[in-house]
Amino acid sequence: MSDQQNVYPVRDDFAANAWADKAKYEAMYQQSIDDPEGFWAEQAKRLDWIKAPSKIKNTSFARDNVDIRWFEDGLLNVSANCLDRHLDKRGDQTAIIWEGDNPDESKHITYRELYARTNQLANALKELGIGKGDTVTLYMPMIPEAAMAMLACSRIGAVHSVVFGGFSPDAVAQRVIGADSRLVITADESVRGGKHVPLKENVDAALTRDGTDVCKNVLVVKRTGGEIEWKEGRDVWFDELVDKQSNECEPEAMGAEDPLFILYTSGSTGAPKGLKHTTGGYLTYAAMTHQYVFDYQEGEIYWCTADVGWVTGHSYIVYGPLANGATTLMFEGVPSYPTHGRLGDIVDKHNVNILYTAPTAVRALMAHGDNVMDSSKRDSLRLLGSVGEPINPEAWEWFYRVIGNEKCPIVDTWWQTETGGIMIAPLPGATPLKPGSATVPFFGVKPALVDNEGNILEGATEGNLVLLDAWPGQARSIWGDHERYTQTYFSTYDGMYFTGDGCRRDEDGYYWITGRVDDVLNVSGHRMGTAEIESSLVAHSAVAEAAVVGFPHDIKGQGIYIYVTLSDGIEATDELKKELTQWVRKDIGPIASPDVIQWAPGLPKTRSGKIMRRILRKIAANECDGLGDTSTLADPSVVDELIEHRVNQ
Ligand code: ATP
Ligand code: MG
Repeated sequence: MSDQQNVYPVRDDFAANAWADKAKYEAMYQQSIDDPEGFWAEQAKRLDWIKAPSKIKNTSFARDNVDIRWFEDGLLNVSANCLDRHLDKRGDQTAIIWEGDNPDESKHITYRELYARTNQLANALKELGIGKGDTVTLYMPMIPEAAMAMLACSRIGAVHSVVFGGFSPDAVAQRVIGADSRLVITADESVRGGKHVPLKENVDAALTRDGTDVCKNVLVVKRTGGEIEWKEGRDVWFDELVDKQSNECEPEAMGAEDPLFILYTSGSTGAPKGLKHTTGGYLTYAAMTHQYVFDYQEGEIYWCTADVGWVTGHSYIVYGPLANGATTLMFEGVPSYPTHGRLGDIVDKHNVNILYTAPTAVRALMAHGDNVMDSSKRDSLRLLGSVGEPINPEAWEWFYRVIGNEKCPIVDTWWQTETGGIMIAPLPGATPLKPGSATVPFFGVKPALVDNEGNILEGATEGNLVLLDAWPGQARSIWGDHERYTQTYFSTYDGMYFTGDGCRRDEDGYYWITGRVDDVLNVSGHRMGTAEIESSLVAHSAVAEAAVVGFPHDIKGQGIYIYVTLSDGIEATDELKKELTQWVRKDIGPIASPDVIQWAPGLPKTRSGKIMRRILRKIAANECDGLGDTSTLADPSVVDELIEHRVNQ
């Protein structure tokens, strides 16, 4: 497939002005692999250390002893690196641009203001008895107080666990218990797409569950002024407590390997895992990847549309950008409100230069046609980014052409909650782009493809994606369950970190994620990733989105069952089913010929917008009673609708 792909060469202006051109990327990459100690010792200097590390790398991937440490004798404070050290040079520069759900609401917060409020909040946390090593659960809207809360925790050495504000009381309870949280920080309500979500009410409900009595206080931001219940002695108003605090709070000296946060994965494949990330390596890696992959230049306005409830929000809304002294935009709402042109309107309003979003958002916009962004010009954009799922080449081209006006490189970034930061991605001044490929490894990243026995495969080939050595941003464990960590990531192939993703490497050494290994189809002995068939369908103008799964088939072993969401205004007919079948046969080959096509008005997705194929697989196999863990599903009604209209094979 790759040979027919367009290749987008590096633009001269990017190569000339970027942090890295091709020669520099290659030299730095080589050094990072040949001499990781020297390379990362140098990179650690991008941070301010209270005590500089002398031990750099001490890591083992051995199945019986998974132990990962970076900069282990160094001392530092994350909030001081994101705030204090910028005050002299850029105290009056905007740190956070906040754009409300309502397009008439926005505000700018300078580094000095962010510093002061974070310190006040840190002092407030202390007043509530929170200290070094305590855990705090954040269940918050996309408001600046969320970033302040993360930074305030890091200032006093508390460990935050951010729970996405769309989760249910049960999910909140599970995570409060899992992390042993003394405190929950929330808001009365959040506002998304014009609708109010009762966050405080959800916390109240969560804290009635068994085992949640570890939680002693709830700190409540007044976002909407909506009516809430109040539990005297437990609940505290954010502003009341924080306003009266001093805006100086000495940053705690933290060990590089002290925990910074706990964060749960999206739950695409099973029960979410609470990953433990630590301090020095994580921040070094988040800052460095933010600088190089987005080619962030002084003074630019940078916008990542993720929620702070996901790792993307941690590393690329808060920690990476603020460590680099960037201006980071935080958006409270959703791309479809009040119109589908909202993202473009925000870009114009704040002169955004770098826009980092997800394939699910691009596909949703694409379904509304090429004129969806006509209310904006987007002239300020310089670079686009994608994360979360494989981006179908068709969606990539549309993103490039319609949103980026054919002048912005797209960095397709492959990484995971577990990796802490971007692992495989182009550098815009160095790497020619191929739509649909995350391209090449970042500095210090050693990817490999292995067969099911763990043999390393060379050259252009396809296999299971593993990482052969540690990098500083890597999660160190699953919170409270190192055994599960070892089991999940290091037991499949000894001495290697297994990503769970399937991948192809082409003749230029580019990596193409083919989908989750758990989702791989095996049709008449041919193994096929989900991405290729789905991308073929999305390339048809009638198709907005598609998901492919296997189902038990007497002759072929597995048959191909396809769920298709049509673009706006397209009629679902049997004719069209035939046409799509022919389309895939012609594009990929008869082996990929769909056995069943079901029209899907919506697809089951995680709350971060990823397709949950494991649920689609159950529906296809007519095992609708045992759908597994559905707690991370964004909209359960989608599943009922699909079950009702399931096609019998
Ligand atoms: P769980 O681990 O609970 O099943 P999850 O894997 O969806 O959930 P995340 O850590 O948010 O949780 O997602 C990481 C995964 O997302 C990757 O393993 C990969 O499958 C997919 N992914 C992320 N970025 C890309 C990308 N640029 N291209 C292809 N796939 C991507
Ligand atoms: Mg995962």
